[in-house]
Amino acid sequence: MTSVTRKRAGKSKDIIKKDGKTFFEFTDRTTAFDGIKKDEFPHKGEVCCRLSTYWFEIMEREGIPTHFRAFVPPNIMEVEYLEIIPIEVIWRNFVAGSMLKRYELGENPKTGIEPRLGARIPDGTIEFTTKFEEKDRLIDEQEIIDSGWLTHQELDYIRGCTRRINEIMSRHLLEKGIILADFKIEFGKDAEGDILLADEVGTPDGCRFWDQNSYKQGVIESLDKDVYRYEKGDLSDVYLRIYRRICE
Ligand code: 5GP
Repeated sequence: MTSVTRKRAGKSKDIIKKDGKTFFEFTDRTTAFDGIKKDEFPHKGEVCCRLSTYWFEIMEREGIPTHFRAFVPPNIMEVEYLEIIPIEVIWRNFVAGSMLKRYELGENPKTGIEPRLGARIPDGTIEFTTKFEEKDRLIDEQEIIDSGWLTHQELDYIRGCTRRINEIMSRHLLEKGIILADFKIEFGKDAEGDILLADEVGTPDGCRFWDQNSYKQGVIESLDKDVYRYEKGDLSDVYLRIYRRICE
């Protein structure tokens, strides 16, 4: 007899367990601002599943271990079951989003950077937030160690891995005239305690993509969830457009 269970994994994906295997179903659910804004958009789940598949396969070829096992068209992915590390890892190449907000509040998230939307962060910067609290809260490396979530060695691995993921994605995207302004990723541990890239990667839900030509002309043209967050366009149109630019 087959047993199937389904539950929510995050705000936009469902996790399905079937015959001892684990699957992510990418849905059309869309949320922003810690779930305050909610909607559904056609094609969104499929675009994010196909794009994650595209990037996970590239990461595996580049020697970065991931939880990806198989793509089940159109919007399901088989994954290895992991114990998720309760932090979100953010890499930033340009000032935007919550980093810009911190500058506007008079904080100084990183010294030596121009506090304006679109300013480049030389050599990039990494940040960590909590994952399972009601609101994502910025945490420092000491809190991660003190909470027992990671050892120094594991944190070093995640830092190095995130830097490489940035280099790989940025290089591929620039060939297609797209700037990777920032992104969020997650990691988990397998049964052996090895750290694998988890969740999704390289989607317009978890990255800021900017059109490079527009940027050169001083305009930020978002090709990601910022069009929904700040009501700058139709999410389904933009997601299909970025999917085609990256994958076709
Ligand atoms: P920010 O902290 O500036 O709002 O976001 C930084 C990066 O992380 C952006 O690329 C944003 O899309 C991504 N990000 C932040 N929070 C979430 C989240 O809850 N889910 C996903 N998928 N991405 C997020």
